[in-house]
Amino acid sequence: MLAAMATLGILGCGEAFDSGWGNNSCILHGASTPTVLFDCGYQIPERLWALSRRLQDLDAVILTHLHADHALGMAPLLVRMMEEKRMRALTVFGSAGAESYLRKAVELAYPGAWRRLGFPLDVRLLAPGKKTRWRGLELECAESVHSVRNLAVRVALGKGSFFISGDGRFTEASLSLASRSKLVLHEAYSARRGHPTHTSLIELHDALHGSTPEHIVVTHPQRDERESVEIMIRRLARRDPRWICAAPGQSYPIRAK
Ligand SMILES: [Zn+2]
Ligand SMILES: [Zn+2]
Repeated sequence: MLAAMATLGILGCGEAFDSGWGNNSCILHGASTPTVLFDCGYQIPERLWALSRRLQDLDAVILTHLHADHALGMAPLLVRMMEEKRMRALTVFGSAGAESYLRKAVELAYPGAWRRLGFPLDVRLLAPGKKTRWRGLELECAESVHSVRNLAVRVALGKGSFFISGDGRFTEASLSLASRSKLVLHEAYSARRGHPTHTSLIELHDALHGSTPEHIVVTHPQRDERESVEIMIRRLARRDPRWICAAPGQSYPIRAK
């Protein structure tokens, strides 16, 4: 039973310049799955270090896009791993430019540290439309519409599956991945107001109406919209309890069998 169960825990669910909610990030762990961090913004290392056992266990990081609230925390994360004399490889999945971003971030933060990391960084590209199989996980991704390239990611492990939007307006391709997932974590930057590079909750609700995910967890509201987003989710949840407002510390079981 234990072997079939993994957990997706929310480390943060705020927007780029929020306070208290933490940058949008979550972590997959379980007895028989690799430990994988999804996004690592500048507020995340501290939250991750509070789960120090999981830091030692960390096998991979998946970066949806290269904005500071999703990727800049990699610099202190990698340098602390160096200090703790990590030997084994860390796999990083991202889009083109991820390795160059990591090198620049580490070198800006601690000049000379990139060459002294002491453990291999195995940076792998995710490509829309292509399935990547890695250590029992099946990864698929699709682009959203954001101010930089963002890859929404679907992860399947056995019969369990979840979807992480990263940032951006959903696209037909990203919605298709979401609607095939049991757990959906999707950004909604506003309750109703449209935005060129983010999704609103009303649009997300209309798009996922009639879909089959068991839980739809809303993350990343713009700081002035948080209250309106929360009120609307409470209203939606009265009719459809699948709608949930994300909060740090929440965790969701991923049943592989
Ligand atoms: Zn963001
Ligand atoms: Zn972004």
